[in-house]
Amino acid sequence: MADDATLNSLVTAAAAELMAATAANSAAISQRVLTLLVEALGQDFGFLRHNDHKIGATVLIAEFPPRNADPDPIGVVYFGDADSVFAAAEHLKEPAVMRPDRDHADYQRTIVQGTGVPSVSIATVPLLSGEVTTGVLAFGKYGDREWFAEELEALQTIATLFAQLQARIVADQQLRWLAEHDDMTGLLNRRTLIAQLDQRLAPGMPGPVSVVFFDVDRLEAINDVFGQDAGNRFILTFATVLREAADFPAAIARFGGDEFAVLPHAPMDAQSIFTLALGIHRQLQTQVRSRSYLFARTVSVGVATGVPGEDNASVLLSRLDLATQSAKKAGGARVVAFSPQMAMKKAIRNEVELRLEEPDASNDLVLHYLPEVDMRTGAVVGTEALMRWRHPSLGLLMPDAFIDVAESTILAEKLGRLVVRAACAQVAQWRDQGLADNPTLRINVSAMELVDEGVVERVAATLDEFGIQPSTLCLEITERVVIADIETTQKTLNAFKDIGVQIAIDDFGTGYSAFEYLTSLPIDALKIDRGFIRDLKRDPKRLAVVRSILGLADAFGLDAVAEGVETVDDAKALLELGCRRAQGFLFSRPLSGMQMGALFAQRFVGVEFLRD
Ligand code: C2E
Ligand code: CA
Ligand code: CA
Repeated sequence: MADDATLNSLVTAAAAELMAATAANSAAISQRVLTLLVEALGQDFGFLRHNDHKIGATVLIAEFPPRNADPDPIGVVYFGDADSVFAAAEHLKEPAVMRPDRDHADYQRTIVQGTGVPSVSIATVPLLSGEVTTGVLAFGKYGDREWFAEELEALQTIATLFAQLQARIVADQQLRWLAEHDDMTGLLNRRTLIAQLDQRLAPGMPGPVSVVFFDVDRLEAINDVFGQDAGNRFILTFATVLREAADFPAAIARFGGDEFAVLPHAPMDAQSIFTLALGIHRQLQTQVRSRSYLFARTVSVGVATGVPGEDNASVLLSRLDLATQSAKKAGGARVVAFSPQMAMKKAIRNEVELRLEEPDASNDLVLHYLPEVDMRTGAVVGTEALMRWRHPSLGLLMPDAFIDVAESTILAEKLGRLVVRAACAQVAQWRDQGLADNPTLRINVSAMELVDEGVVERVAATLDEFGIQPSTLCLEITERVVIADIETTQKTLNAFKDIGVQIAIDDFGTGYSAFEYLTSLPIDALKIDRGFIRDLKRDPKRLAVVRSILGLADAFGLDAVAEGVETVDDAKALLELGCRRAQGFLFSRPLSGMQMGALFAQRFVGVEFLRD
């Protein structure tokens, strides 16, 4: 047997190694300690195994000498079909020396077979964590070997150090799991997904790297009506359904709140990820509806792709955000793929936003004017101010390229103020030049402007400053504006009415409860949406809509203006229906301030073609 001094120095050496070990180097260190022990104790082999009580098996962790078996028949051995040595590992509490029958032993078949050695003796000591046997440390010698109590005691001390290391690794793994996952759903968390994206997008990695992003539509409604718990239950259901729907190798993360992301492990191009997203989306919609029918929600889905070495996580995430927001803006419940135009639009909006901070921002604002005519006579009866933005490199931008800056309240208000001022200044100029006398000026206003405090006083002051009669100004609002905040809107509109300013409903017919506004808001005019003024002679449905809008206007004593008249036929059809006022490319394109002034001076556009 090994003497006391040898045993003591063995324990000390093993302790020095094992106590310094971490999860990362534990395999190598365990291997080293095993080697040391096998050699010092004059053994033929040694192994360290951990118990996995969840699956009821003993799992090989380290061995010496290495057999390098692949697959390894004794890598994982289930207690149920293990021989005596491995079966004992399940609940071993004390060191044990065994001399198993070679005919039955699994390990003998692999270890001893062919060696011609008649038998083997094995000393096994348990790794213990409280009452639980978490593994075994074992040493074997072919032939017989006597084991002394001091030796087994030293091995038990070393086994305890192994058990402590094992516990440290488990704790470490748990901490890491917690740090990488979302507690509520068990999915990966935002930080982990971003880290994975950065790894996947590193130069030289396979690409393209594609992600599907999910944003639940209007979850607040559940929280507001049914409470936070119901909202959480929904999130859990959603996470479960998402995990099932994304049934391919992928990182699935809860990105925060009601946002989720799926990052397939495989590289994917834009087309494949879009197809994949459509499939997941389809499943989500039916599953979510059937499992949480009480608070079924739709979901907005964005997909985007990044190229390793070119894009990083934050670029890819901002693409996903743009795509998802665009799905949301289009009404939700759909999949939208990122397009470079989205980034372009966003960049333009940001630029306009920054530019608006500067004192001379109004220099970039350009107003064009769309004439409004009386189709019976061709008389130019008014004009609508349409905003454009002069961009240093892109030229003149149309409102749809930048106007949804209205998402940012302050910006919409600022833009609105600039428009009102510039349009009033223009009207004053036409008047002072003797080109037009009190023409009707129509200005589009956004929802944000109408809830802006002091908006009525400010407009009144501007009208006063330029000497314009309030009754010649007509503000155009869309039904969406009204829906945003009906109470404040109503108050503001009434205040405008009080100072004599007129109100028109723009894009009439495209909203929902138009009729309600007609009775509750101080409206002067309806502008019939361009979508209805097409093919009137050939499309009886559109014709019927226009007829009923005109009837409505008549019943409420409102002016009706047809928008977007492009053809002679449509103009004629409108006249037959009794609609006299119109705008559209048939009569004129939007004009510069100077051109509009000239047209006012001319007083008429040609409408001979409308008389048969
Ligand atoms: P809107 O108020 O319905 O304005 C009419 C839009 O239809 C204008 O587009 C005009 O150029 C276009 N249009 C007029 N006649 C025809 C036609 O015959 N055919 C076709 N295809 N189009 C026609 P624009 O200037 O691009 O403006 C788009 C929208 O942007 C406007 O729709 C309005 O909602 C918004 N907008 C424009 N200026 C302002 C503004 O100063 N403030 C706010 N809040 N919104 C504005
Ligand atoms: Ca308008
Ligand atoms: Ca319109």
